[in-house]
Amino acid sequence: MIPRANKSLFVLVFLSFIIASPIGGQTLKVGLYNDLNTQAIVFSVAKGNYLLTADGKAILTLRPLENIFIQLANDSLQCYSAKMLLGRYKNIELRSMTDSGFFGLRILPYNKFAFYDDNLLLSYNLGKLQTINAVDIDKYIAGVVEAEGGYKAHPEYYKTQAILCRTYAIGHLDRHIEENFHLCDGTHCQAYKGRSKTKYIVKAARDTHNEVVVDDDSILIIAAFHSNCGGMTENAENVWLIKKNYLQPVRDPYCLQGRNARWEFKLTTEKWSNYLINNGFKIDKNQTPSSFNSLQLSRRQFYKIGNDSLSFQKIRSDFKLKSAFFSIEAKEGFLIFQGRGYGHGVGLCQEGAMQMATLNYSYKEILQFYYPKIAIIDVQKLNFQKNPQINLIKENPLTNPQTKR
Ligand SMILES: [Zn+2]
Ligand SMILES: [Zn+2]
Repeated sequence: MIPRANKSLFVLVFLSFIIASPIGGQTLKVGLYNDLNTQAIVFSVAKGNYLLTADGKAILTLRPLENIFIQLANDSLQCYSAKMLLGRYKNIELRSMTDSGFFGLRILPYNKFAFYDDNLLLSYNLGKLQTINAVDIDKYIAGVVEAEGGYKAHPEYYKTQAILCRTYAIGHLDRHIEENFHLCDGTHCQAYKGRSKTKYIVKAARDTHNEVVVDDDSILIIAAFHSNCGGMTENAENVWLIKKNYLQPVRDPYCLQGRNARWEFKLTTEKWSNYLINNGFKIDKNQTPSSFNSLQLSRRQFYKIGNDSLSFQKIRSDFKLKSAFFSIEAKEGFLIFQGRGYGHGVGLCQEGAMQMATLNYSYKEILQFYYPKIAIIDVQKLNFQKNPQINLIKENPLTNPQTKR
């Protein structure tokens, strides 16, 4: 028989595991502004009631438009309500009492502000106030898709984006394990700037609930995507030296009219020949400008003159070109680079996928077009041995040891 105290401890540990594990649509912990030295925050309720719990004790309930100011004082958190000091604590939780609660968060001294869904966890960590948004994974995904932003797309397109964000998130749950959260909100993980306000995006995340993309070996895919492939996607091996059978060149007729389908760049013949000489090419002084011409109808790996060669990837990075998919043509003392696409070109082409969505392809067809040999499965059916980052979460639930519910 388990003694009473141990029994409740067991229940608590079990509960905290359920809460900590995002598998099955549970809570994800996202570290906010992890690269800033946050010293204080203002929390304001936007919708629903919030329960403020400090070091495991319920302190007060906050209603819409009510604020709390929390400031670092040495290694503890000073908490103020309406300019009255409520107390000094180690850990503070602001927990929504409904599942549609959200709040405004101001980060000081930077004066950054955004709205977030669900809960906020605060603690002292190495001289700064650590702020963690404990958020339902689908709401987080909607926020990430929204942060990609800058476009108005078809609802079916948002579903492809939602699945890729979820695949990335579940595949990288161990990224910040030592800092006691799963993912950060910067480009180091996936940019997340708070809650989504777009109805279609929120719906896309919910409609694809628990769906992730795996390869033919049941491993979560590297969910690479880019703006426009220029008509042909790139082999991942040419960009990152990783070989994946679902990151192979695909001919894409859908993005050719896209905003980023074409670009142009101009360089003097002299500059180009100096660049090639610096990269070990043997260039003859009498070389004709047209001998620098190069045609890329399909993606090629190397620019070649005689026996000398240089990868298009390196040229792209040295000249900060929009893509490594370009032809070169000599014209009136200049070399004209006629480029196609924007980005590394690996995986899903966003402008092509948007066009496919408007042509009524389903999100599954779109994903299968850009990532051949993949399957879309429920995250609960994921093979834990083959996706060890999930095992790590199972064995080491990310709970805040001093924070009890
Ligand atoms: Zn990160
Ligand atoms: Zn494309």
